[in-house]
Amino acid sequence: MNIIVELVTPGRFFKDAPIHSLNEELKKRGFEVVFAADQEDLLRIVDNNARLAGVLIDWEESPKELIRKIHDFNDELPIFAFSSSNDVTDASFEDLNANVEFFGYEISNAADIAVTISQKVKEYTDAVLPPLTRALFNFAEQGKYTFCTPGHMSGTAFQRSPAGTLFYDFFGSNTFKADVSVSVGELGSLLDHTGPHKEAEKYIAETFNADRSYIVTNGTSTANKIIGLYAAPAGSTVLIDRNCHKSLTHLMMMSNVVPIYFRPTRNAYGILGGIPKSEFSRETIEKRVKETPNATWPVHAVVTNSTYDGLFYDTDYIKKTLDVKSIHFDSAWVPYTNFSPIYKGLAGMSGGRVPGKVIYETQSTHKLLAAFSQASMIHVKGEINEPTFNEAFMMHTSTSPYYPIVASTETAAAMMRGKVGRRLMDEAIERAIRFRKEIKRLKAESDTWFFDAWQPENIDEKACWTLDPNENWHGFRGIDAEHMHLDPIKVTLLTPGLNADGTMAEEGIPAAIVAKYLDDRGIIVEKTGPYNLLFLFSFGIDNTKAMGLLRELCNFRRDYDANLEVKKAIPSLYEKNPSFYEGMRLQELARGIHRLIVEHDLPTMMYTAFDTLPHMAMTPHEAFQRELRGEVEEVRIEDMQDKVSANMILPYPPGVPLVMPGEVLTKDNRAVLDFLLMLCEIGEHFPGFETDIHGAYRQPDGSYTVKVLKQA
Ligand SMILES: *Cc1c(COP(=O)(O)O)cnc(C)c1O
Repeated sequence: MNIIVELVTPGRFFKDAPIHSLNEELKKRGFEVVFAADQEDLLRIVDNNARLAGVLIDWEESPKELIRKIHDFNDELPIFAFSSSNDVTDASFEDLNANVEFFGYEISNAADIAVTISQKVKEYTDAVLPPLTRALFNFAEQGKYTFCTPGHMSGTAFQRSPAGTLFYDFFGSNTFKADVSVSVGELGSLLDHTGPHKEAEKYIAETFNADRSYIVTNGTSTANKIIGLYAAPAGSTVLIDRNCHKSLTHLMMMSNVVPIYFRPTRNAYGILGGIPKSEFSRETIEKRVKETPNATWPVHAVVTNSTYDGLFYDTDYIKKTLDVKSIHFDSAWVPYTNFSPIYKGLAGMSGGRVPGKVIYETQSTHKLLAAFSQASMIHVKGEINEPTFNEAFMMHTSTSPYYPIVASTETAAAMMRGKVGRRLMDEAIERAIRFRKEIKRLKAESDTWFFDAWQPENIDEKACWTLDPNENWHGFRGIDAEHMHLDPIKVTLLTPGLNADGTMAEEGIPAAIVAKYLDDRGIIVEKTGPYNLLFLFSFGIDNTKAMGLLRELCNFRRDYDANLEVKKAIPSLYEKNPSFYEGMRLQELARGIHRLIVEHDLPTMMYTAFDTLPHMAMTPHEAFQRELRGEVEEVRIEDMQDKVSANMILPYPPGVPLVMPGEVLTKDNRAVLDFLLMLCEIGEHFPGFETDIHGAYRQPDGSYTVKVLKQA
């Protein structure tokens, strides 16, 4: 940060000369000085340049609200004010308090003023940096010799071989200087929660409204397991969202708990709905405990909030209603909820403590804030036994954590604090809403077809939009009022083919085709459903990216309507199997896949697949132990009915486990199997459209096998 922007009125010698000398001094000290044309220009510069180190103005020439306007963008940015009269009595107490530093117009003072400005800028950058990151930067700058791990020794080892040198040059020297050993005492310890690491945790807890926060360097996959191991002893019963992340299945494979699943709804689009209110009630839980072998009253519950498609729960209701000792909201997708009022009451850390209960929230900092991959946080509200919790934490944490990930987690928090964070959030929400409106406008103006946005009629309000049981757009049947709320940032676009009432259209464009088209143009879709595509409008999305996406969606429509050859429209798909795709056109491809989906009656399958859960023959833990003992065999996926699955079976999309280890698909949940078979069949008929199914193995002949337990 070395840019100073100046707004000064030229033309008077008594002003020009001191400013000129000051600028010379600033340049000597490595600053870059830029000039604003007027106040509006100045504010634009402040708004668009995070690298700005300070603002210099003429006190008499500037209206007093300028300071406030600058602080609306960034309340910590230093402001330097020249005053000709040495009389700043018109400065209010607020101005004097607000990082404004006054100087007189004296030529001979330039060097001193430059020193003061440098000091203030240093104070500013120190204040902006969070504690561990600051300590890490300072340590790296000192360049101390270490005789400990990591073996690359600040990168020197890499530079002794050609491959290593290329690697070193690609990442740059600071990457290696910041990769330091746990032996560096002055940085404290992530595992023991000491020194700057401890300060970082406190800073994060304060930022995210938690009592206690933990930094996890191996993703929320690990954060979820840490909480689960602590909160649910072996043999206890746990309530788990059936639409859970696979890490929770892995938790149940590691620790022998008895799961009872919350049963979410799903709509005809295949969009995962929420867990209905009734699932949280005492009566439902009592009934399920009775039905489940070895179950006792659950001690712990896990709810995915928001769902993969951006639906938030009224978390206050769940916290109040659910009668368990601890509730874990898996909020991997939504680390930003504490930074906009639109998420109030919808997040794990919203509001105060809940008497007698511990609330946990896990967030993948890396997913939607700015942090390195694997950066994750655990937030806790309520009483935990910290030494015991820490055993579970350490069990899952390397004794050599990668400090740049830790520092990036903390920096993500720093970015979200104060007005700067609030603006980032506001802008992301506004951008997403603008994009949604553009889609609607283009659809209304199109004389053929266009993508639709999955959202209520009126999206003017900057809010999470509440799903109303009396409206049809969402496609859910019989949902609760005031229970689920759609996040504006998660934009689901619908392609033609499926109607909200659950009927299938004559013609359709399966979303996977659009996703491949976009992929070939450098746009990666977050998630692709049968007829829907999910786009995340996180902070990294700027107007140019949003416009780029709109343009490519329009191009797709044009190419589809012109019925381009696959070879031209989606070259990478053609490359997969040129003889198959030779001469095939986009509409033919779409019709082919659409017909397969119609034959399988996708909407009915979607509704019924989740009416009854597969039968739990044994816990996931027991099933995995048997697999370890080799008591498994492989069968073709179509033959798995009535057999005990050894693995979880999880297709992408939707990315949630359909079958858990130890479960049996019977004729009652045949729809689950049919859904899997449909995915396999699409892949068999259309090269390049194979579905990635965790737990199913694709054979050279194109068929899929799964592992089941040998029958005794
Ligand atoms: C992605 C995700 C996780 C795992 O997070 P990672 O940071 O990738 O390990 C856990 N839960 C949910 C709901 C997720 O979407």
